[in-house]
Amino acid sequence: MTTVVQVKKHLNYINGEWVSCHRNKVEASFNPANKYEIVGYFQSSTREDVDRAAAAAKRAQKEWSRLSGTERGNYLYKIANCLERRLDEVAETMTREMGKTFSEAKGETTRGIAILRYYAGEGMRKTGDVIPSTDSKALMFTTRVPLGVVGVISPWNFPVAIPIWKMAPALIYGNTVVIKPAQEASVTAAKIIECMDEAGIPAGVVNMVTGAGSEVGTAIVNHSDVNGITFTGSNGTGKKIGQAALARGAKYQLEMGGKNPVIIAADADLDLAVEGTISGGLRSTGQKCTATSRVFVQSEIYDTFKEKLIEQVKEIIIGNGMDGKTWMGPCASENQLNTVLSYIDKGKAEGASLIFGGERYTENGSENGFFVQPTIFEDVTNRMVIAQEEIFGPVLALIKVDTIEEALEQANDVEFGLSASIYTRDIGTMMSFINDVDAGLVRINAETAGVELQAPFGGMKQSSSHSREQGQAAIEFFTAIKTVYVKA
Ligand code: NAD
Repeated sequence: MTTVVQVKKHLNYINGEWVSCHRNKVEASFNPANKYEIVGYFQSSTREDVDRAAAAAKRAQKEWSRLSGTERGNYLYKIANCLERRLDEVAETMTREMGKTFSEAKGETTRGIAILRYYAGEGMRKTGDVIPSTDSKALMFTTRVPLGVVGVISPWNFPVAIPIWKMAPALIYGNTVVIKPAQEASVTAAKIIECMDEAGIPAGVVNMVTGAGSEVGTAIVNHSDVNGITFTGSNGTGKKIGQAALARGAKYQLEMGGKNPVIIAADADLDLAVEGTISGGLRSTGQKCTATSRVFVQSEIYDTFKEKLIEQVKEIIIGNGMDGKTWMGPCASENQLNTVLSYIDKGKAEGASLIFGGERYTENGSENGFFVQPTIFEDVTNRMVIAQEEIFGPVLALIKVDTIEEALEQANDVEFGLSASIYTRDIGTMMSFINDVDAGLVRINAETAGVELQAPFGGMKQSSSHSREQGQAAIEFFTAIKTVYVKA
């Protein structure tokens, strides 16, 4: 029987008003820990809704950009305060909607609040340089201007932090926004927009249109009034968006998948390395673009590392993220669960040895939740599909290596380059790793992960379109530089 918890029909937010979509149809969002629990409904929007949102954003943009950075920043502070007041409610919605544990959801929301406050402050930072002219009667300087309307297309795995780390810099630098959140996280996204509304953000400055990527996402990407598109999601979608944006000359930013390696050197602190491998690979059910996926272990310590790893993975508590004891929640959707299970089958078929997990996890025989066991393979070679493709689930591939050079060569032998880490006590090994690993986020004696919000975030190779999010680096995408020459 369907359990109805906090079921609300969430509306689109266009021109400062909550409105139904053009076709007047909603879709349900379900709890992946219990597919019979509806978390809320969201609008199944169309191109017409995107047209209205883009027109509102375009109308509002000039006036918004004429406010001072401090004035725009004050709105961000107010949004942050609202989210802080509603922290538990937002985090609970996130846990119910996409499955991550309540403590992780609280951590993510807290980060979203900090990002808003960080960018509120950025509104006062200098945005240009004076460049000496060869003519003493001339003044030459750069200034930055907003792109105009920015389309934000976000994934479900960080449903608060990612939309905020895109919207906050877009807004502080004077852009207006049309956001389409992932369908699996549209109810959570509505909570952020509610806070923007409560903060009194002027009509049209932020607009949310929910619905399918193929319909709403495509309409945003192709809309002639949308001047920039910032996307986080899978490689397949990212490539399509990049091509479409390029074709019409819109600026774009793509943050995509990863196949993140960790190297455990023979001199590593093994307890730290085991802890980091588990946290990096299995936390959030492995549904992080920075999740550890391939574990290269030097042969001298391979058996000890493996033993310690399995011992601790056995202790992982799987379940509903709201129950207070769960460490690993469900996959975010049935689709995601099936993808993970099919990669596990591929690993077995290609001859990797399954040494832990590998099955759907059920509670008392019930398949109401989309749980999967934490899974570990060994005897994995670099040409296997599970060593090359992003799984986006709690699956680790152990790969025994004799030398760090061998580990590094294999670590780089994938099309991705997002996060990479090494556990070692040797400064020379650290330096070679920093210099030679193909990754935008390099971590030493720390799990593969993102970085603090004031530092640049992004990948190399096919993980990214090579611009950077977060921190001061975000200004590069969200503004255009004008070089000004003034002759007295
Ligand atoms: P996805 O590509 O399926 O969807 C992402 C967003 O794009 C959603 O809002 C979706 O509706 C929309 N979309 C889908 N098709 C579209 C189209 N044709 N045009 C426009 N928009 C479209 O990704 P997902 O499953 O939501 O997220 C998981 C992926 O995101 C993983 O590959 C993960 O590695 C990646 N990710 C990357 C980062 C990073 O910063 N590098 C962070 C988090 C997640």
